[in-house]
Amino acid sequence: MVDSAGTPELTPPFDALQRAAEMLRNAHHAVALTGAGLSTPSGIPDFRSHYTGLWDQVDPMEVASIFGFRRQPAAFFDWVRPLTRTIVEAQPNPAHYALAELETQGILKALITQNIDMLHSRAGTQMLYEVHGHLRESTCVECFQTFPSETFLDNFINTGAIPHCPVCDGILKPNVILFGEALPVKVLNAAQREAQGCDLMLIAGSSLEVAPASELPLIAIAHGAQIILINFEPTYIDEQAAVVVYGDVAEELPRLVKLVESSLL
Ligand code: NAD
Repeated sequence: MVDSAGTPELTPPFDALQRAAEMLRNAHHAVALTGAGLSTPSGIPDFRSHYTGLWDQVDPMEVASIFGFRRQPAAFFDWVRPLTRTIVEAQPNPAHYALAELETQGILKALITQNIDMLHSRAGTQMLYEVHGHLRESTCVECFQTFPSETFLDNFINTGAIPHCPVCDGILKPNVILFGEALPVKVLNAAQREAQGCDLMLIAGSSLEVAPASELPLIAIAHGAQIILINFEPTYIDEQAAVVVYGDVAEELPRLVKLVESSLL
């Protein structure tokens, strides 16, 4: 399409992405905030998408809360076993690589994720805050010693055997934050500092329904930052965002990076 002056007219979401690219290029301290939607293109289901979301099949308070875990650890391990297999077998997708590329270019200064799947680090992101923990390590619920999960993960996935502490035989709980648990203080503080100090927050693939991570955009806005949001569905922050793109993160983020790159040439 061309306008009356003969110049090409940008059509959404390209014009929105173009604006987002300019904002990223001009930002002094851009940070990203991601959620489970970043990893659905890698085959890991999110929590709240209809039909495919993990919560359509189970009661979260029963299987994925610290109270449920203490009452019935076997129910938690039964639920988490297929998800663990999916995560272990998953590969980073173009959305993860796009965000890693933005960091390499010096544009993105930090990435805060709610994901536990470690795909951002596998895609190369360095300055990463995993506010809901990760599957990399597990902690004994009796003696609180921490162990690398890789020592038992294959056996757990293949046999369903609940992992036990090699020192005291207590149950090993993966270092992921369950409902009812506090977030790791140092990581959360660092993420909040990033939100306070950034001038641009790029949010992708999150319903922004889980606090306190969902409050980080409000902290950023309160300190003068602008918001870019890429998600399939509307969120509570859309009206306060400078740019909103409703689309697939695995398509829109690589497009965005290309636009940033072309404007850097
Ligand atoms: P959520 O399920 O609440 O929201 C995901 C959002 O992403 C939804 O709004 C959905 O429409 C959108 N989405 C899904 N696929 C998308 C795609 N390809 N492109 C664009 N948008 C897409 O997830 P959340 O906001 O991260 O918060 C809930 C919790 O989910 C967090 O505690 C997180 O730890 C946990 N979780 C993590 C993983 C993982 O590590 N991959 C998987 C499931 C759940």
